[in-house]
Amino acid sequence: AIVVAMAVGTVAEIYGELQRAAGAAKRLIELLEVQSEILDPAQAQSLDTQAQADVIEFTDVSFHYPSRPQQSALSAFNLQISQGETVAIVGPSGAGKSTLFELLQRFYDVSAGSIRLHGVDIRELSLHDIREQMAMVAQHPVLFSADVYHNIAYGKEGATQDEVSAAARQAYADEFIEQLPDGYHSFLGERGVRLSGGQKQRIAIARAILKDPEILLLDEATSALDAQSEHHVQAALTELMKSRTTLIIAHRLSTVMHADRIVVMDKGKVVANGDHASLMQQSPLYRKLCELQFNQPSASV
Ligand code: ADP
Ligand code: MG
Repeated sequence: AIVVAMAVGTVAEIYGELQRAAGAAKRLIELLEVQSEILDPAQAQSLDTQAQADVIEFTDVSFHYPSRPQQSALSAFNLQISQGETVAIVGPSGAGKSTLFELLQRFYDVSAGSIRLHGVDIRELSLHDIREQMAMVAQHPVLFSADVYHNIAYGKEGATQDEVSAAARQAYADEFIEQLPDGYHSFLGERGVRLSGGQKQRIAIARAILKDPEILLLDEATSALDAQSEHHVQAALTELMKSRTTLIIAHRLSTVMHADRIVVMDKGKVVANGDHASLMQQSPLYRKLCELQFNQPSASV
């Protein structure tokens, strides 16, 4: 409690100086609260990625955000994912899709139930081991106020220039990077060069390729990218997903069609699970999502 009080005190000071950054300060308070709760176990188990168990296993997971104790984001959520599977997750806004990714990376702890990686409860693993297994490519990737090189190199400690350029090449990012005023040394961020949505995503994909994680968490962009960027982003993602366990929050029909399995979520639960054809028959919600969300020009197969 003392730690939290001090942290909030510090934020209050920052807040005083940066009144216009009120939203950011609020998020910072939330982050500090989260960090005070999520700790490494006293004696971490080691992670055996060769273990026979499912790669990911959610068992009866319930969760509510600390700021909203009365509202469940997930309730009695169950899902098993085996090695190398590509699972598309679909569902209306607020269904709990993003929450799933946050819990998997242990940014929060479940309120009930458990999440296992290779058979081990993630609360018994070191945070380092958990996050080392995963890379996340978000809808709106976070790029740092640093140059392109460091934004990609962040994916792997001690990455060499050759590894960074190789990752950028595989992510179809090297061409546009080399055309920037200072190439890999071009500064990104508010005062730096402005990148398009598709370019930012390819930087994030290059970072993930360099990290070479076992598990890939992908939150597909909802808005259409410019056509050329779109094509390159898709190619880069295909490269990244090869022979990895992948969870995709999917917004495109082409993505769900290529997945091994589709999980339909609603109100924090799995309501249907299967392939496109069987879900079209069995799940009214899936049919509705197909009509509403996948029926955009950019979303065609
Ligand atoms: P989806 O990604 O499927 O749109 P989310 O996982 O973002 O859904 O949200 C699930 C529920 O949790 C929603 O009711 C949402 O309002 C709530 N929620 C999401 N993030 C937070 C947060 N940081 N704090 C409090 N509630 C949240
Ligand atoms: Mg979301």
